[in-house]
Amino acid sequence: MELACLDLEGVLVPEIWIAFAERTGIEELRATTRDIPDYDVLMKQRLRILDQHNLKIGDIQAVIATLAPLPGAIEFVDWLRERFQVIILSDTFYEFSEPLMRQLKWPTLFCHRLVTDESGRVVDYKLRQKDPKRASVQALHSLNYRVIAAGDSYNDTTMLGEADVGFLIHAPQNVIDEFPQFQSVANLEELKAGFIAASNRNLTL
Ligand SMILES: [Mg+2]
Repeated sequence: MELACLDLEGVLVPEIWIAFAERTGIEELRATTRDIPDYDVLMKQRLRILDQHNLKIGDIQAVIATLAPLPGAIEFVDWLRERFQVIILSDTFYEFSEPLMRQLKWPTLFCHRLVTDESGRVVDYKLRQKDPKRASVQALHSLNYRVIAAGDSYNDTTMLGEADVGFLIHAPQNVIDEFPQFQSVANLEELKAGFIAASNRNLTL
């Protein structure tokens, strides 16, 4: 039994906060964990900025709905789902990812939740658990699945390490250099070949 676990942002869809910052022209929303390593500090800042601009969850989803998955991503997910059970392991929020997940035809997604009040204001966020990507792969192993995983950045490396085979895709050079134990592929076509090679079944492209 084999499962495919994929990161979402940077692999199948653009970085949602950065794309959102570009669409809205709100420059301060471009900050990521590379600028502010403490995720809680970063998220509190993001929620404060949303408030300052009076952006409610519906406004945010409307902007995100104008984003498209990365080129080839919809076809890639279709291809992968014919060959593997696919689970997306992401550090995004269900409420943000919804417009993009619709375009990807709703593959299973494990991520986090935003807390909104009755007016639609985003008041808080709830992380599902600590180190969620690694914990998910561990849990899937306990169900006797072999896991092949792919991600693009630091927050994927514990998932890739826990998986039976882990790939970096679209990763920045510093991540590739720091984690030479993971095969790095440049694009989704190469990732298809990687999944075929990593599988213990006789799959074909
Ligand atoms: Mg990512």
